[in-house]
Amino acid sequence: MDLRDSLVERLTWLRGEIERHNQAYYVHDTPVVSDAQYDVLMRELQSLEAAHPYLVTADSPTQRVGAAPLAAFGSVTHRISMLSLGNAFEQDEVRAFDKRVADTLRAAGKLSADQEVSYFCELKLDGLAISLRYERGLLVQAATRGDGQTGEDVTLNVRTIKAIPLKLKGAEQELPEILEVRGEVFMNLADFERLNAAQQARGEKIFVNPRNAAAGSLRQLDPRITAQRPLSFFAYGWGDLGGFQLPRHSAMLDWLQQLGLPVNQKQHVLALGAQQLLQYYTSVGERRAQLPYDIDGVVYKVDDLIAQRVLGFVARAPRFAIAHKFPAQEATTELLDIEVQVGRTGAITPVARLAPVFVGGVTVTNATLHNETEILRKDVRIGDTVIVRRAGDVIPEVVGPVLARRPIFASSFVMPSACPVCGSAIERVEDEAIARCTGGLFCAAQRKQSLIHAVGRKALDIEGLGEKLVEQLVDRERIRSLAELFTLRVEELAEYDRMGRKSAENLIEAIAKAKRPQLNRLIFALGIRHVGETTARDLALYFGSIEAVMQAQPEALLNVSDVGPVVAGSIARFFAEPHNQQVVRELREQGVEPQAPEAQRSSGLSGKTFVLTGTLPTWSREEASSRIIAAGGKVSGSVSRKTSFIVAGDEAGSKLEKATELGVAILDEAGLKTLLEASQSID
Ligand code: NAD
Repeated sequence: MDLRDSLVERLTWLRGEIERHNQAYYVHDTPVVSDAQYDVLMRELQSLEAAHPYLVTADSPTQRVGAAPLAAFGSVTHRISMLSLGNAFEQDEVRAFDKRVADTLRAAGKLSADQEVSYFCELKLDGLAISLRYERGLLVQAATRGDGQTGEDVTLNVRTIKAIPLKLKGAEQELPEILEVRGEVFMNLADFERLNAAQQARGEKIFVNPRNAAAGSLRQLDPRITAQRPLSFFAYGWGDLGGFQLPRHSAMLDWLQQLGLPVNQKQHVLALGAQQLLQYYTSVGERRAQLPYDIDGVVYKVDDLIAQRVLGFVARAPRFAIAHKFPAQEATTELLDIEVQVGRTGAITPVARLAPVFVGGVTVTNATLHNETEILRKDVRIGDTVIVRRAGDVIPEVVGPVLARRPIFASSFVMPSACPVCGSAIERVEDEAIARCTGGLFCAAQRKQSLIHAVGRKALDIEGLGEKLVEQLVDRERIRSLAELFTLRVEELAEYDRMGRKSAENLIEAIAKAKRPQLNRLIFALGIRHVGETTARDLALYFGSIEAVMQAQPEALLNVSDVGPVVAGSIARFFAEPHNQQVVRELREQGVEPQAPEAQRSSGLSGKTFVLTGTLPTWSREEASSRIIAAGGKVSGSVSRKTSFIVAGDEAGSKLEKATELGVAILDEAGLKTLLEASQSID
């Protein structure tokens, strides 16, 4: 076979594969490979075709958009094609795009040599494109993109989406004769979770991601089903306008918004030149994980519409716009095995061992499967090809199997009946999803985890005592309880792996410092179930000494703010255990002296409960919470009549709605800062 034959063979194979994936993704809403894998195939095809333009065929997927519409729907011919977008993954590709645009506009006399191109920057929502036709302000037709020329008629379905107005706003004589709006139908992440939970309860199809859920929900032959699905919409473009047009893309979107169409204005910015485009990309990337919906990139569009016309189109995309993609948050890989890990409280967590896969910017080889019920719910089996998701800094998780690729040898997970570390029985409490090793501190895994927790930053904060060293100390049985930590000596530590004399000395010094911990940190360090940092702080404030907490009757514990019967029971049970009492006694014998907190200062915020929602402009949630707590206030996760203030940032959701309903006072970040300042002056 000569070179040309093998090239043609590769091209044919790539086109066949991509076509198959297009069918699965666009027509059946059930992809069998991840977007990243699809993009690799598409990029190879594009680069081979670019190098050998004489081999490009008219039916190549590089020349076309999407896939032909499903015949079961009526079809709609788009008066103006619905195209795709070119895409960039690297910064250099964005710079090259900007240069191409600037060069073309300068050659056409539309941009002077010292001017930068003005772009409109938008989020690239991960849903599906839709075209809405309004005539004299009334919604008369809605169509999917289909193959770009012909889409599916989904008018009845779209009419059920609340975000889409059936009638445009404005005086009748000012409404456009014809207006085709284009935008994205998508599903918010919270709605997606709720939908999947409801689907599961009814024993119906679980969607692998919000994009497929949105597409599958809109492309229903029965509009009553679409009506029950929580779909959202943002407009970002237009088709036929009956001849009308404003001079800029940004002005057009303002106009669409005035007509009552939802436009994602809060996330949009104007940018000059490549440098500012890249800044937008970085800033969106930083808040991507907090957005209430999935995005797969950002889109840059030349703002001047005359300049857009000068730039024109290539086969399947405009030259005046480009999608700058984020690293994929989902990838598919093989589930090699499911092993179990034992946590600090004995909780058994099944962990997926995966064939290494690049996702969310890192290579992932393990992912949590949470618990046995979750494995059954997701129906993942060893040997399956699975979808792995890693969004932001969140721990990677297995979303579900790709059923179309399940091998016959795929085997179900069986929860072991004995702890793999200490051999004690594994027990599953009724009504609890979690299975637990019953070994307690007899189990080396639990001892290690307890110790890692106790020396952590939020507890005793012993610098230089990492997980590896804790493992060695427990494995050699040198440390059997927290108190024995304080018996360590420089000489013996210097013998441990990767421990020189200097680091041993530093560690002993850090351990000595931990002998005078804040009382709340010591309580937290003990690892009592249900006692987190906040409860530990409340207990320390209320009781003032470790002995008082130990001896407290459940009734007294219930007096502490936010301590209910479950937490009180857990604290009482913990201190009823002789070995836990002994740990505290031994700590005392080793000279550990917890420092009682200062009496709580009077503060303008004491007794006030705050709920945070949405993204604040400059403070993270953690920062806002800690400032509120420092000023004597409380932060709660849910809104009730007892809530004093709701602090709402961008994209605030249902909590804000509920707070408004209940008449709770609403603050923005600036309002919160003013309140905090005022509370300080009261002190
Ligand atoms: P695209 O999704 O890369 O870009 C075009 C689409 O972006 C538009 O049609 C529109 O729906 C959307 N969009 C979102 N926000 C927008 C905005 N602000 N302005 C303009 N458009 C916006 O292109 P495509 O042709 O729809 O699909 C190709 C991509 O789809 C691939 O890169 C891959 O990620 C995925 N895909 C995956 C498979 C699979 O099997 N996994 C198969 C086919 C396609």
